[in-house]
Amino acid sequence: MSNHDHLKFISGHPNCEVKQNMLNEQIGLFATTSFTKGDIVIDFDSSKIVETPNYLTVQIGENKHIHLNPEYLQYTNHSCEPNVLFNTTTMQLECLTNIAIGDEITFFYPATEWMISQKFNCHCGKPTCVGLVQGAAELPTEVLKKYKLSDFISAMAKKYNRLLIF
Ligand SMILES: [Zn+2]
Repeated sequence: MSNHDHLKFISGHPNCEVKQNMLNEQIGLFATTSFTKGDIVIDFDSSKIVETPNYLTVQIGENKHIHLNPEYLQYTNHSCEPNVLFNTTTMQLECLTNIAIGDEITFFYPATEWMISQKFNCHCGKPTCVGLVQGAAELPTEVLKKYKLSDFISAMAKKYNRLLIF
């Protein structure tokens, strides 16, 4: 327990809870159930579809970006070693790895985003950290091909001949 003392409970939800890290004030989503790779954390849909991406949206098509419902999924943070994918075909939050109770639930931004509205520097500290997080369109192919991508991003990568390997 003691190593989680800096996490302040914000709100509880099916299979997860929102907590705030009091050391850096970052809000994140944490598992309250353990999952196996391939499990579904939760189904999601859109509360609103917009044409222009922003830091809260998930891309589902060209000029189609959704605001997530349930809304608390907006607190899912980026990691360069993600444990979930926003699968925009099945509209399910899909586990890419096993997840233990208490683990932060994270996704890889470029796995769903072709272009990112605000690029940012990642501080995940993982050995595979990509540093500057950009849309899939701008990441090096050798980085992108290490990740499971949404069907939309895979299709875009093929269309633009980014990832001939797929
Ligand atoms: Zn990183």
